[in-house]
Amino acid sequence: MRVLGIEGTAWCASAALHDAETGSTRIESDPYEPDSGGIHPREAAEHMSEAIPRVVETVLDAAESEYGPNAIDAVAFSRGPGLGPCLRTVGTAARALSGALDVPLVGVNHMVAHLEIGRHESGFSNPVCLNASGANAHLLGYHDGRYRVLGETMDAGVGNAIDKFTRHVGWTHPGGPKVEAAAAEVSGTDRGADAADLLDLPYVVKGMDFSFSGISSAANDAYDDGEPVEEICFSLQEHVFAMLTEVSERALSLTGADELVLGGGVGQNDRLREMLETMCAARGAAFHAPDPRYLRDNAGMIAVLGAKMAAAGDTLAIRDSRIDPNFRPDQVPVTWRDDESS
Ligand code: ATP
Repeated sequence: MRVLGIEGTAWCASAALHDAETGSTRIESDPYEPDSGGIHPREAAEHMSEAIPRVVETVLDAAESEYGPNAIDAVAFSRGPGLGPCLRTVGTAARALSGALDVPLVGVNHMVAHLEIGRHESGFSNPVCLNASGANAHLLGYHDGRYRVLGETMDAGVGNAIDKFTRHVGWTHPGGPKVEAAAAEVSGTDRGADAADLLDLPYVVKGMDFSFSGISSAANDAYDDGEPVEEICFSLQEHVFAMLTEVSERALSLTGADELVLGGGVGQNDRLREMLETMCAARGAAFHAPDPRYLRDNAGMIAVLGAKMAAAGDTLAIRDSRIDPNFRPDQVPVTWRDDESS
């Protein structure tokens, strides 16, 4: 089974070919990089219309030269969640390709794909997943045929909360890697060695849910008050990642799971991975963070999950293939898992 995956929920126009027999995945991506500010939905949509045909053509050409004219067995695409105008471009491209190649169409939930790529790479049987991405932040666990949302942000996604601060400072998008680099300047010194060195920022965890809107505003205020930006970045990371680590530990504890996988672009952050790894080691749980190319948005994860769904017969008729900007992971009946884990 060879599946062409297409991703374009927000900033990353991407196409991939996954060969389920060999396990190989080729990914071609073309990111949208705003000149200033954050992601502008109209500009992002224009980027998708230009870049999706390019990345698809590159992957298709390579597939056909390697496997011949019947290289593709199914076309999988991100149905949501994401920005409506971007998703519509991806949906239209996927429907057209499925028709032209005369192969089934598979509609993939982008957040479930972030989870499944970690399960696929790690070989874990029934992990809890922390999805730490730009527009989202939630804990997922499998129960009775679906991935259930165990806890989630009550307002901003984790990456968006960090990017809100970097926009205030005047740094270009994406802000996460810049915050990580600035924070590293503090963590490499004596400062940052204990909690007394942290700026006092809001830490909001309520049961399994958490909130980031207050911390973005407080970080902006600290910057306006003249606190050194490296100190703010350091404290911002420590607070935000501690919240995510606390709820991840609670999810493991409440479900009895002993495996944690990470998903989403913020998962590229070394400090977040270090905190999760330390927490898992302390409670005897296994931890897996996928390769960075599978953490940020990418079509590889869409093609990998698309192949599993297609093999399970979980395909879409064109009339049922509309996109869904608010598509939640717990709306997806899990058809492709053959275990009985609950
Ligand atoms: P979603 O998957 O929820 O639709 P998204 O489309 O914004 O989110 P992702 O690729 O998952 O995309 O994540 C992008 C986010 O990751 C951005 O907010 C960016 O700042 C953040 N990010 C990237 N690298 C790092 C890093 N090293 N540290 C912290 N954050 C990072």
